[in-house]
Amino acid sequence: MAKILIVEDEMKIARFLELELKHEGYEVIIAGDGRTGLEKAEKENPDLIVLDLMLPALSGIEVCRRVRLTSQVPIIMLTAKDDVSDKVAGLDTGADDYMTKPFAIEELLARIRVALNRKKYIEEPKAETLQIKDVRLNLASRSAYYKDEELTLTKKEYELLEYLMRNKNSVLTREQLLNHVWDYEYFGDTNVVDVYIRYLRQKIDEKYGVQLISTVRGVGYIIKD
Ligand code: CA
Repeated sequence: MAKILIVEDEMKIARFLELELKHEGYEVIIAGDGRTGLEKAEKENPDLIVLDLMLPALSGIEVCRRVRLTSQVPIIMLTAKDDVSDKVAGLDTGADDYMTKPFAIEELLARIRVALNRKKYIEEPKAETLQIKDVRLNLASRSAYYKDEELTLTKKEYELLEYLMRNKNSVLTREQLLNHVWDYEYFGDTNVVDVYIRYLRQKIDEKYGVQLISTVRGVGYIIKD
């Protein structure tokens, strides 16, 4: 399970996050100031860092900047103020995401899942192509073909198709597709998945008279080998 470092000087918040993250099955390490945070980031090799911006000893911005000198670990910054310049500064120093306090824990958990999935995806060595029936993906150029004809897909259509093909023979729920392809920006609104499945079917199933994407009623979608 992923290891998460929380750098937060407000112990009440740190303890709360620790409980919630452990409940989700993550391993949790806590640092109460910036300097300790930086040390633990280097020694413990966490999979993700939740980093408070306002910290004693070393600011969150400075911790982020120094971590980024050697590591691409996902960093989610917590800011106390709803101050645009803080967020910009955080993202400029290389944070992947930020949340303004007070935040809903469910939203932070969702963002953590997204950041960890993205990390896994980047680290997985990519096979050159992926083929199911007559549909073939070139993973390096992110292009899709039916036999030798290139399909004209938008970025999201391609990502949805690739995710379904990578997980062939498994039923994927709308929530899973939403989380992996759209990140948290459409959190909760699964209609967008149905719309894009329809686009893909128009461009592949209907155009070539095949059945690639199947609906599993009440559950989601599947591509079978
Ligand atoms: Ca603080």
